[in-house]
Amino acid sequence: ALTVKTGQRTSYDIYLEENFDGLTEAVKTLEPEKRKICIVTDSTVASLYLNPVKAVLEKSFAGVSIFTFPSGEPSKNLDTVRELYRHLIEAHFDRKDVLAALGGGVTGDLTGYAAATYLRGIDFIQIPTTLLAQVDSSIGGKTGVDFDGYKNMVGAFHHPSLVYANLSTLKTLTAEQFACGMGEVLKHGLIKNASYYEWCINQMFEIQDREVEALKTMVLESMKIKKAVVEKDPTEKGERALLNLGHTVGHAIEKIQNFQMLHGQCVALGYLCAAYISWKRGLLTNEEFFEIRDMNVGFDLPIFLDALDENEVVLATKSDKKMEHGQIKFILLKSIGHAYVDFTVTDEEIRAAVHYFLDNG
Ligand code: NAD
Ligand code: ZN
Repeated sequence: ALTVKTGQRTSYDIYLEENFDGLTEAVKTLEPEKRKICIVTDSTVASLYLNPVKAVLEKSFAGVSIFTFPSGEPSKNLDTVRELYRHLIEAHFDRKDVLAALGGGVTGDLTGYAAATYLRGIDFIQIPTTLLAQVDSSIGGKTGVDFDGYKNMVGAFHHPSLVYANLSTLKTLTAEQFACGMGEVLKHGLIKNASYYEWCINQMFEIQDREVEALKTMVLESMKIKKAVVEKDPTEKGERALLNLGHTVGHAIEKIQNFQMLHGQCVALGYLCAAYISWKRGLLTNEEFFEIRDMNVGFDLPIFLDALDENEVVLATKSDKKMEHGQIKFILLKSIGHAYVDFTVTDEEIRAAVHYFLDNG
């Protein structure tokens, strides 16, 4: 297992396995026989994985209760959190009890937020079942919900007690959901590790076929990148901002489309815009820019912004959280594998980038 050092807790372990059996061993350090656990999961994941996970946790914990909500981003809000609080109160959950987030990033973010706030904070564990959640959102302690159409507007830093990823759950993801996770994987390569990015190109066939060995190598490498960045900067004062590559424009698109497009797809379009701006500034070579674009095609990620207005996108980037002193904190690329924070990106550059992908160049 990988171990993540945090400022808040001492540390926590990340398990990457091929089934749920190892959960019994993994939760041992939590003294489960003295605590109740509530499995929080969405309707889709419940039908696939709730029974096996429940069966394993029942062997360890003093009690297991279940809270399910309708799957999808529209559930990631305070209404769902309120229903979860109510469920916990009715089930007499106290400070020593635990939540388990079984599902994708939506489940992880909202469960983590409930755990951060219920009785001023209780423990929770992450059992991520989407590629996006395994490589990205389950690690790092960022929790939260959307508010009035603003992404992740309300939240808290709260680290899980452990992360348990079962690779075999990735087999049941739709092609679209898998592609979304690839958006974050490719983002990790783009910001930190050129050879990892090249590896993804070479292994495209195996990855797309979801071959276990390829997935294991890929998920582990992405987890390491995320862990390294988060450890250096647990509360996002510096380096961690690089993980927001593609997210300024990505969140703007998400908001304009009213969350009709998936997060990973929006991020993939967002980093294409960042790559375009970097290319036009003479940072990326032609070859690099077109490689990034072609990788999106290869991994079923979008390269066109349909029916969007570039001025609307510019406007929407202004309401994003990533502002400092009124200036947008943009992540650009010096090269593949090397991202940096830039405060000088102009509206005109964003407009030009969006326009390019509207027009197909
Ligand atoms: P999600 O949780 O909505 O999962 C996507 C869909 O896949 C859902 O319909 C879900 O029911 C289904 N699903 C989950 N696991 C499945 C499986 N194994 N097989 C079949 N279907 C399955 O979304 P996501 O893409 O995992 O995560 C996106 C969310 O994560 C966004 O809200 C984003 O803001 C957040 N996020 C958070 C962080 C962070 O650091 N906290 C980082 C990145 C993204
Ligand atoms: Zn993201």
